[in-house]
Amino acid sequence: MKGQERALKILAGFRRAGRIPSALLFHGPAGVGKRTMAARWATVLLCENSGKAEAPCERCRNCEAAGRGAHPDLKLVGAAYQAALLEEEPETQRTLKVGTIRHLRRDMETTSLWGGWKIAILEDAQALEPASANALLKILEEPMPRTLWILLASSPESLPKTIVSRCARVPFGALRGDVVEAILVARGVPAQTAREIARLSGGSAGRAAEIWEEIAEEESLDKSGPAAPFEIAESLPRELALARKKAERIIALEIERLRLSHLEGAVPFAKAEPALRELRSLLRAVGSNADPRTATVLAQIAVEGL
Ligand SMILES: [Zn+2]
Repeated sequence: MKGQERALKILAGFRRAGRIPSALLFHGPAGVGKRTMAARWATVLLCENSGKAEAPCERCRNCEAAGRGAHPDLKLVGAAYQAALLEEEPETQRTLKVGTIRHLRRDMETTSLWGGWKIAILEDAQALEPASANALLKILEEPMPRTLWILLASSPESLPKTIVSRCARVPFGALRGDVVEAILVARGVPAQTAREIARLSGGSAGRAAEIWEEIAEEESLDKSGPAAPFEIAESLPRELALARKKAERIIALEIERLRLSHLEGAVPFAKAEPALRELRSLLRAVGSNADPRTATVLAQIAVEGL
């Protein structure tokens, strides 16, 4: 868990003091490791061998089951969980329903199957409906011993104050560029590309992974030949809002690539400057309703031959 030392320190403090709150609120931007940290920390609590260490042993049956997402005392509560409960599709689960919270309550109130903690991770606490938030509040007001609720949200302000007041807050910040870069490199992204993506990611490893997926997809297209810009434009999603987002990322990446090649002396100022100006104006245009396909084509043409 690189880059979230502050959160780690707070969590380690709870364990050292032997006082683990019954509810934690992990708050911070998307894609910075809240979910990974929640799953890892839950595993540390469940692990038979972790003792005072801050890492799970990864060998005991608790670690093994938690790693497979199959630990009977650890619940990851999100769209997939609710969909399985309701026998519906995960994509259709927009909110967390009160029935889901009631089901969880019954589950959390039964004795731990493997004799340790019972833990529920709410992957998106902002999806709680008002009635669900009330039901959860009642649970948090009378916590059962050795039960832990971990709520994930973008900010405390995005949740009812009554809920927040029952949780110990654990803040997560944007990741440093070198941390995002290292995460990408560890996943096999070439160093130079990792550096470019890290600068565009806004400190979110999740966003960086999305950008990398798009680059990989883009690079799988045949980019030689005069039709290439159009092929890239054609690869944009059908839905306008999604196409716009992707076009913005493609253009932003071209800007970053060109900026770096210029800094490294590969492209002279006289060529880089007008192309950068053109790309920046296209980026602004996409942001204010220009057609994303046209803008993508023009962006490819602007950097042709550089
Ligand atoms: Zn273990």
